[in-house]
Amino acid sequence: MQGPTKKEKIYEGKAKILYTTDNPDYLIQYFKDDATAFDATKRGTILQKGVCNNRISTKIFGLLESKGVPTHFVELLNDREMLVKKVQIVPVEVTIRNIVAGGMSKLLGLEEGIALESPVLEYHYKEDKLHDPLINDYHILALKIASKEELDVISKTSFMINEILKDFFTQKNLDLVDFKLEFGRCKGKIILADEISPDTCRLWDKDTRQKLDKDRFRRDLGGVEDAYQEVLKRVLS
Ligand code: 5GP
Repeated sequence: MQGPTKKEKIYEGKAKILYTTDNPDYLIQYFKDDATAFDATKRGTILQKGVCNNRISTKIFGLLESKGVPTHFVELLNDREMLVKKVQIVPVEVTIRNIVAGGMSKLLGLEEGIALESPVLEYHYKEDKLHDPLINDYHILALKIASKEELDVISKTSFMINEILKDFFTQKNLDLVDFKLEFGRCKGKIILADEISPDTCRLWDKDTRQKLDKDRFRRDLGGVEDAYQEVLKRVLS
């Protein structure tokens, strides 16, 4: 069977590019090696990151689909590209936290590494100019960013994804510290979109507590490329 034909670039973000295809329902999602942090004030390249994130996301989307979570993933096309369903992104980033780190540590003055009694869900309004501010359900409903029904699906699905991914990464000797999700509307349904990778998750080795994610880039810890390769190796093992 012939693969989809790539047509025009419709979006270029910090880490990915989207192209239209000959099928109006499908887009090609291309993973770049570019890395940014702190609202793109820090920029760099992580060699082979795009290849790692494409493969890691493919594995995770496949796992989630097999457990009944609808996603935008259609198929892996090549090293850096996957075919995805066209969605209208809900401009809310959903963060789930199992262990205190990053933004939560800063917001509440807590030490990184404290295990949370139960997972914490946060919503951030997806708006770079405002630095993705923390918002809650009431903001989302009052500003009609999403409906009550959509938000119920988004929160339930996010907690379900957390349970699936915590188990999965435990088998890989990794702690899923926290992660960010984005959802989209597709033919009247809410489905998971974007990517799930070391760019969007914090992953710590269970024994050594070594960080194996984008924090190595954000915090200049060195060994950035090796960390992405290590996660890919474990995810595919
Ligand atoms: P924090 O709020 O602590 O900075 O981030 C929480 C989690 O969500 C981390 O795993 C982080 O990688 C992910 N995350 C939050 N916002 C973004 C974002 O704008 N881009 C990416 N790639 N990941 C994000």
